[in-house]
Amino acid sequence: MRHLLPGTTASRGMALGRARLVQPSRYLVDTRPLGEDEVDSEIEKLHRALDTARLELRELRGKLHGALAREVSEFIDAHTLLLDDPELLRGLDDLVRIGHYRPGAALKKQRDRLAAIFEAMDDPYLRSRKEDIDQVINRVISALQRQTSVEERKIAARVGEILIADSIAPADMAHLAGNGLLGVVASSGSPYSHSAILARSLDLPMLVGVRDALSTIHDDDLILLDSERGEAVVHPTAQDLSRYRAWQREAAQEGRRLATLANAPTRTRDGVDIRLYANAEMAPDIASARARGADGVGLYRTEFLFLRHKGLPSEDEQFIAYRDLVLGMGGLPVTIRTLDLGADKADAAGLAIRGEENPALGVRGVRLSLRYPAVFTTQIRAILRAACYGPVRVLVPMVTQPDELIAVRTLFKLARQELKRENVDLPEKLSLGAMIEVPAAAINVRELLEHADFLAIGTNDLAQYVLAADRGNDALENIYNPLQPALLRLISHVLTAGRRARKPVSLCGEIGGDVNFTAMLLALGLCEFSMHPGQLLLVRDRIASLDFHMLRKHAPKLIRARSHEEVAEMLGKIMLASQAVCSESISVNAPVL
Ligand code: PEP
Ligand code: MG
Repeated sequence: MRHLLPGTTASRGMALGRARLVQPSRYLVDTRPLGEDEVDSEIEKLHRALDTARLELRELRGKLHGALAREVSEFIDAHTLLLDDPELLRGLDDLVRIGHYRPGAALKKQRDRLAAIFEAMDDPYLRSRKEDIDQVINRVISALQRQTSVEERKIAARVGEILIADSIAPADMAHLAGNGLLGVVASSGSPYSHSAILARSLDLPMLVGVRDALSTIHDDDLILLDSERGEAVVHPTAQDLSRYRAWQREAAQEGRRLATLANAPTRTRDGVDIRLYANAEMAPDIASARARGADGVGLYRTEFLFLRHKGLPSEDEQFIAYRDLVLGMGGLPVTIRTLDLGADKADAAGLAIRGEENPALGVRGVRLSLRYPAVFTTQIRAILRAACYGPVRVLVPMVTQPDELIAVRTLFKLARQELKRENVDLPEKLSLGAMIEVPAAAINVRELLEHADFLAIGTNDLAQYVLAADRGNDALENIYNPLQPALLRLISHVLTAGRRARKPVSLCGEIGGDVNFTAMLLALGLCEFSMHPGQLLLVRDRIASLDFHMLRKHAPKLIRARSHEEVAEMLGKIMLASQAVCSESISVNAPVL
């Protein structure tokens, strides 16, 4: 009998296939305490299981080739690092040796402890790292129970089908995708998980949070995975199948059409050139940005380098990462954001300020960097050295007032003098910009512009601070809405100030890459967007259908609206009107900025 299972779209698309269930690891562990004479042999068993898990990851890496290997190596590395984490290993040994836990019970205890730490994190991306812990510990438990992981071999047979699982490790997903996996339905997980990110870059449809998937779907059931609508259809009807075929035809057509946009200019229908930059965190983002014709990198989040690292990355390690980024973009401008860690995330890098009750309002971003000038100077030196390899701009996060930018500039000047004494090649000039995320910075933007060469509006945080609504809290969806008139007013204010000061202003929050907000942002006067590379072609396509000058006329009305509902309603009407009007003779060659 046909039934529908709703879920959250982690990667768009549709797929039709037979279900293959992977039951969650149930952590069936023996909780009886160990006898003193068993400790040594159990420690040995635990270490053998850890070795097996490491070996499996190495073998998996060996099996992947070409682009897939590059995409996945980050994830395999992250899992390998976790397996070698001294704190995790010491904790496990102590639990067995001192606490007399059996290895399986020790693994479960460590998993629960680490999962609680990750779950308490503010950032949804980092919160979703809990899945990595689960997957790594699952792998070790499975190796422990069978001495060799049969599970992987079982999974390897499940190709050409739709995987129904509690969650799936990115390494396994890559392996299966290479063998023809069609899609994934996961009962837990988040769209911010490594697996979800990977599914998007592999173009593999994926739903997460499909609560009843494992209890209601059976092996071999026919499944229509509809990640466009966010649902899995079990036993689809003829009508469902014809919808799927229609989608396939449209997707093929759309794919061909979008591919032709990769080398096209980004221009509105009335001829205004718009710049599209990419947000990048990892190496695959760079290739993806180039392939889709990005104008450069508008936001490189350096904190990921720190979070993936055990301890602080050295100057040379940072230099290599930044240099490779600059080289990867082949002469296009690259915007490197200095460290944006807060107390919640700074622990990993050993920089946490103790006892902060409210990390989102605490020593975060540039505040933390200025608190640790030696750490910051290491990053600054690495950036300066990398800037000899291509055009680099530096972006400072969480700026509240001009003195922070002045302090950063001074540190750059001092680092320059130091490097010069060391006879290191230096770039001639480096633009220094501020992120506009704190309401005070947006309101007093004119003062900030006296010290900044450019600005980047970070709407993810600006919205959370303007609306006093945690960006990761689902319960506040109705308040944390990018169409809130107060937010539009601030964006418009910042864009106007930038235009008057003749300094570029970009926007790099999530709304920059969401086609539902493209018309609104153009209406407010935005001409530089930065987004996840996967969104570039869609946004370019949307921009081509819109009339910039006509949209601009509606800006005063939009920012004077009384509610986000009113803005949404106005936008619907404006967009229709904008698409209906012919561009005729209007032609503007450059953005107004
Ligand atoms: C933002 O706040 O909009 C932003 C781009 O920064 P992040 O999401 O890294 O906080
Ligand atoms: Mg931010």
